[in-house]
Formats: sequence, C-alpha cells, structure tokens
Amino acid sequence: MSIMKLLYFPNNKLRIKAKYIKNINNDIISLGKNMLKTMYFYNGIGLAATQVGINKRIIVVDITIKKNNPLILINPEIIKFDKLKINSKEGCLSIPIKQQYSILRYKKIKIKAKNLMNKYFELEIYDLLSFCIQHEIDHLNGILFIDYLSNLKFQRIYDKMYKFNQKIISFKKKII
Ligand code: ZN
Repeated sequence: MSIMKLLYFPNNKLRIKAKYIKNINNDIISLGKNMLKTMYFYNGIGLAATQVGINKRIIVVDITIKKNNPLILINPEIIKFDKLKINSKEGCLSIPIKQQYSILRYKKIKIKAKNLMNKYFELEIYDLLSFCIQHEIDHLNGILFIDYLSNLKFQRIYDKMYKFNQKIISFKKKII
C-alpha cells in the first residue's frame, strides 16, 4: 500500500466528473485501500478518487477520532434526503489552507453504494457523516465545497491557494 499524491485546487482535474465503476476487480480493491491510507496520512475524514487524479466513482470516509471505522463506497448516490439543511463547517484535503468555512448541507440523507465485496448496501446517515459523504460525492461530480461560498470568499481562497501552489513549485525547483 502506498500514499497517493493529492491534487490541489485549482487543478482542473478536480472538475472532472468521475465514471461509474462496472467491475470491482483487484485494482479497485487496492485503490480503495491506498485511498484510505492516504486519507489517514493527511488526517482527513474523507477522500474521493478525483482528489488523487483517478476518474472513478469511489470514496473513502472515516469520521471516528480513533480512525477505526473506515467506509469504502463505490458508486455512492444519495437516494433520499430530508429537506432540512444545516450549517456544516468544512475544509478539504485539496484546499489545505487551515481554515474551515460554513456551508449548508442536508442534515439527514439515505445513500446507496457498493462495497468491495460487490454488494449493494444502504445507509441512513446524519450530521457529520452525512456532510462528509455529501462533500465527497460532490468531488466525484467535479464540485468543491468552496463553490457554495460567496465570490469574495472563493477569490480569497483562490489567492491563498495560488501562493500555496507557488511554494510547492519553488520548493521543487530548489531540489533540482
Ligand atoms: Zn474535499
């Protein structure tokens, strides 16, 4: 298992809509495991394949403090939701600016997905797990949580990430 390289906003690949997974083969199984390892390495609570540059509908999540309840969801979709939306404070591994922003998410949703054993299952989830899975499914559709913010906030984050990406580039230049 290995840690995968994260894509950072505003990388255009984060806007690609991921494709449905038809066969759950060994490649998909090891992708799921590597994504989990990567998510834990970066202290995240969720990661979508889109964020590691893979155009497939698979997400991993674990909202527990002890990091002992991983979920790997293949082709996840929201099949039911309560209309009530509440504030969700979010950040994103692809936007590492150490600041969280409030956006509105459905409090309670019902999702359907496949597991690595190729079995469909449904889950009724609420609050943090619900927000996290909505955030990750958005990634699979090329949507970032900052798209829900005002233009002004979006622009500020864009500017911060511009500087962040410049640092990565100049750091790379020095090693060469
Ligand atoms: Zn994210």
